[in-house]
Amino acid sequence: MKQILKTLTPVALLALAAFGAHAQGYPAAGKVVTIVVPFSAGGPTDRVARDLAEAMRKPMGGATIVVDNAAGAGGSIGANKVAKANPDGYTLLMHHIGMATMPTLVRNIPFKVDSDFEYLGLVNEVPMTLIGRPTLEAGNYKSLMSWIDKNKGKINLGNAGVGSASHLCGLLFQNALKVDMTPVPYKGTGPAMTDLIGGQIDLMCDQTTNTTSQIEAKKVQAYAVTTSKRLPTPALKDLPTLQESGLANFQVTIWHGLYAPKGTPADVQKKLNDALKAALKDPDFIKKQEGLGAIVVADKRVDAAEHKKFVAAEITKWSPIIKAAGVYAD
Ligand code: ASP
Repeated sequence: MKQILKTLTPVALLALAAFGAHAQGYPAAGKVVTIVVPFSAGGPTDRVARDLAEAMRKPMGGATIVVDNAAGAGGSIGANKVAKANPDGYTLLMHHIGMATMPTLVRNIPFKVDSDFEYLGLVNEVPMTLIGRPTLEAGNYKSLMSWIDKNKGKINLGNAGVGSASHLCGLLFQNALKVDMTPVPYKGTGPAMTDLIGGQIDLMCDQTTNTTSQIEAKKVQAYAVTTSKRLPTPALKDLPTLQESGLANFQVTIWHGLYAPKGTPADVQKKLNDALKAALKDPDFIKKQEGLGAIVVADKRVDAAEHKKFVAAEITKWSPIIKAAGVYAD
């Protein structure tokens, strides 16, 4: 046994040294860290990722952090790309509530949310808003209800693809009203917003990080918020909640989290988690996010283990709601 140890120890030491050097030198000079966003550029997940990349640059020693929009299939193409990527800390994933709803909503996703990723931490929580094209003949939620009643069978609803947050919100909305609308899928709500403003689609449910400035500029009409309480953001404060408008228990809040492929070295994960925690305290990042109705999370909620627990709890929370509504995507 002693003999085996004698032979193994130098090898083990070498391996340890190599491993340590890898983590110590992370991120290596000249190497780019990529945050994969599973939706189009210009949308709310993209927005959070780009702001976060900027805020993480300093605590990552000035590293170059870029965003790669691997959009499509409601967010599963980008998530799958990261699940299969080299676990070296240079490919990360920014995803939202879809990590918790997709396993129930889409029964055949090509990756495992619980075992294909290292969880780096929660980033923020973002309310959603129900918005409409600027030419829609309804100026508030009450008149929207009569417009929907009169136009049954002709209404379309934009979303970011099957399994996305806007898809989930739209399904729950149709289910609550008992009205079917025609879904119009995009690779993200960035391009969907362009078409809503242009009047090509009627309605959409989307994060305030994408809708606040368009509501403020009166480029779209806003009808309600999906949270249980009204929001303090100036441009959104007069919007009723869907609950107070008669849709009992309607509550959808989106959150974003950061992930790495399974097998990313523990000390690289720690460096990323430390950088994430520092970025979430960056006053510029907080100001930008809060101005768009988001709440930046802090401390314990940013812990990797805590985030994993949170996602598991969200899966448990959403699974019966999706099943009860019978709103499967497939
Ligand atoms: N808001 C989108 C969703 O509905 C995704 C995006 O474009 O960020 O899931």
